[in-house]
Amino acid sequence: MNNPQSGYAPAYDGMFDKLEHANLDELHFRHDPASGLRAIIAIHNTRLGPALGGCRFISYNSDEEAIDDVIRLARGMSYKAAIANVPQGGGKAVLLRPMQPFDRQELFQAFGGFIQDLGGRYITAVDSGSLISDMDEVATKTAYVSGTSSDGHDPSPVTALGVYAGIRAAVRHQLKRDSVKDLRVALQGVGNVGYALAALLHRDGARLIVSDANPQRVQRCIDQFGASAVATDDIYAVDCDLFAPCGLGAILNEKTIPQLRCAIVAGAANNQLSTDAQGDALHQRGILYAPDYVINAGGLIQVSLGYLKKTDEEIKQRTLALGSTLTDLFERSRADNMPPEQIANRVAESLLFD
Ligand code: NAD
Repeated sequence: MNNPQSGYAPAYDGMFDKLEHANLDELHFRHDPASGLRAIIAIHNTRLGPALGGCRFISYNSDEEAIDDVIRLARGMSYKAAIANVPQGGGKAVLLRPMQPFDRQELFQAFGGFIQDLGGRYITAVDSGSLISDMDEVATKTAYVSGTSSDGHDPSPVTALGVYAGIRAAVRHQLKRDSVKDLRVALQGVGNVGYALAALLHRDGARLIVSDANPQRVQRCIDQFGASAVATDDIYAVDCDLFAPCGLGAILNEKTIPQLRCAIVAGAANNQLSTDAQGDALHQRGILYAPDYVINAGGLIQVSLGYLKKTDEEIKQRTLALGSTLTDLFERSRADNMPPEQIANRVAESLLFD
């Protein structure tokens, strides 16, 4: 007969290893057969406040993959919230997309019940695969949600504003210029954030070269901002002052970095560096990299301070302050001869753990 305890021991040990490795405080699971909900909530760190982070609603190849994803993302949120100076910690939720037909309203209501049972230690928001209308369903069961159709906390325009403030800081630091006028900016991805960023850059006289997998989005930038366009694979090699990745993650890798012909990389995409070594590679090439989780924190500031009922003006000012945060990181990076993202990690870790 199998011994249930020894049978469970290896997996059990593995799970706590994962938590320890990521410095994660809590991992919660909920299975609700009636709605088909299978959800995981990771609460990474609540030293600075309740854990805030979006909920992903996507398919995973395995439960293990979902667990790894939620832990990794919750950890990232702690770092982002700490450095953005918002009174919240890091958390994340994943809802495994059911294989069987399901009622979306019922599923997100059940998820709302799950959040409510955590008593406010986790606050949710939209993320990949979830919609504002899903947050409306969550809100029928809990108040611990930011970004419903009635509260109007759309993060994308604020994210773009923060990225623009970060670009101006990078340009000042690296190129000793006070404006983006006549700078050549290569933009990868002109979706929600990239398009709003393109509008700000165009307004202030930058010259845009854009690429997007969606031709209509490219055309919109040609028509409205006089942008030129290149094929998606050609954006890395564009001769420019600044490359702004606003589409996909892991695009700074061993294949693309040697192609870059820019002085600065600063954009909205999450997880831009495929590995830590790629940050070193950029630093060694003298390319200034604006750490992604710092420069793209505007959306978090919007959902965080919006949730706390702060005014739009305060949210705007706190987002613009990301520019000075980045200037500090760039100066310390130069003084210590260390990549900016490593300095950012140290700052965040001192706020979270010291
Ligand atoms: P989005 O889906 O609206 O836009 C992404 C764009 O990238 C799309 O237009 C898509 O067609 C394009 N794209 C896909 N593959 C491409 C390729 N190979 N080459 C060029 N373009 C390609 O997403 P978004 O909300 O604008 O977010 C953009 C990035 O910023 C994502 O990495 C996201 O995680 C990150 N981010 C967004 C926010 C926010 O507030 N929306 C906040 C923080 C970080």
